[in-house]
Amino acid sequence: MASEAKMPARDYDWLIVGAGFAGSILAERLAAHGQRVMIIDKRPHIAGNAYDRFDDAGLLVHEYGPHIFHTNSTMVFDYLSRFTDWRPYEHRVKGHVDGRLVPIPINLDTVNALYDLQLTSAELPTWLARRAEPVENVTTAEDVVVSQVGRDLYEKIFRAYTRKQWGLDPSELDASVTARIPVRTDREDRYFTDRHQCMPLDGYTKMFERMLEHPNITVRTGTSYADIVTTVTGARLIWTGPIDEYFGFSEGRLPYRSLRFVHETHDVEFFQPVGTVNYPQDQDYTRITEYKHLTGQTHDRTSVMYEYPAADGEPYYPVPQAESQATFKRYQALADASPDIWFVGRLATYRYYNMDQIVAQALATFTRIERTLPAGQGPSTASSAEHTVIDA
Ligand code: FAD
Ligand code: UDP
Repeated sequence: MASEAKMPARDYDWLIVGAGFAGSILAERLAAHGQRVMIIDKRPHIAGNAYDRFDDAGLLVHEYGPHIFHTNSTMVFDYLSRFTDWRPYEHRVKGHVDGRLVPIPINLDTVNALYDLQLTSAELPTWLARRAEPVENVTTAEDVVVSQVGRDLYEKIFRAYTRKQWGLDPSELDASVTARIPVRTDREDRYFTDRHQCMPLDGYTKMFERMLEHPNITVRTGTSYADIVTTVTGARLIWTGPIDEYFGFSEGRLPYRSLRFVHETHDVEFFQPVGTVNYPQDQDYTRITEYKHLTGQTHDRTSVMYEYPAADGEPYYPVPQAESQATFKRYQALADASPDIWFVGRLATYRYYNMDQIVAQALATFTRIERTLPAGQGPSTASSAEHTVIDA
């Protein structure tokens, strides 16, 4: 990372707005290609929503909610492995349902515990099929669940959680929201089953520091686009913030769901049995995450975080609904009419993407940008093969 004094603002080839995965990966790729990049973030740090830090007790915590890395893409895993070593970690989640802790996603043990049964894996599909409601066209987040497990499990595990998380009933949300969560008939209790599941050994922020450590990259945190737009002239723009903000909300505001995070440190070695406990019934929060499970840190105290969904605040989740997609399409048309501004990332492409999908999207974008760069401007060490965006 170069200090900003070394290069006057007009000497940058690129201005990148947002220092999360999308912006930082593009900064790294462009710098490796000989391009001079200024990357800014309005927050006082790099790493976007994946930012982690040591709290007052010396425990590594994720500032903006638990970030668990998982991917089936070896290309994505190999790219990030250039900036970090890894700690193997397989996430497990339990739901606090009817006063007990049961595995989430629903599996054989979830059903047996909640209904006091001793079903086998061979018997569970028939049990579920008897309760499942036939749905001709599965279009909503409710349809996905009731068509697989029936209304009772839907009410116990999905309905209230989803209403809390999104401020909407599952019947008002796209199927893709609950389709993220499988239904299992065996005893598999890992939240994800991807080929690569691990956490950056020294944390996400360190990984981003290494990614941005290049003499061609200047980082300015605590700087919003409005602060700098008039001083960086002639640079090409990559925008990873909310797309509606870039266009001055001309097509109306896109809905984003926000969260309020409450961090606590407790004087016990462990607070809960697994990384995350979901509360799909009564509480105002959706889940509690205990970071030591994720980070593997040894410490005689422990830090946890509660997530309280909120209508207002930082935009964290694009809302998967037909109406918001229609608004987004109007912004996408404006973006298509601005061919030299690149819109990349979860907020700029308005998609409920995981980290690995954003990595793939950023690398694919770089491949397209690379074709527009002057030839022979310095080596690019990553494969220049076309990268594929992984869809959810
Ligand atoms: P961001 O990380 O949001 O970065 C965009 C940056 O742009 C922000 O830092 C913002 O401050 C900056 N910015 C915006 N506007 C401006 C402006 N006008 N001027 C300057 N800067 C600006 N994914 C997983 O794979 N696993 C998980 O376990 C997981 N858990 C998650 C938990 C939560 C609570 C949330 C919200 C997301 C989670 N994700 C998870 C998704 C993950 O956070 C995203 O896929 C990823 O961070 C997206 O990267 P990005 O660069 O697109 O966006
Ligand atoms: N969900 C639920 N109950 C649960 C877990 C998930 O209703 O115990 C639903 C909810 O609508 C949530 C969605 O499934 O928003 C996706 O869950 P995931 O854990 O993937 O959410 P994220 O980690 O992205 O917030």
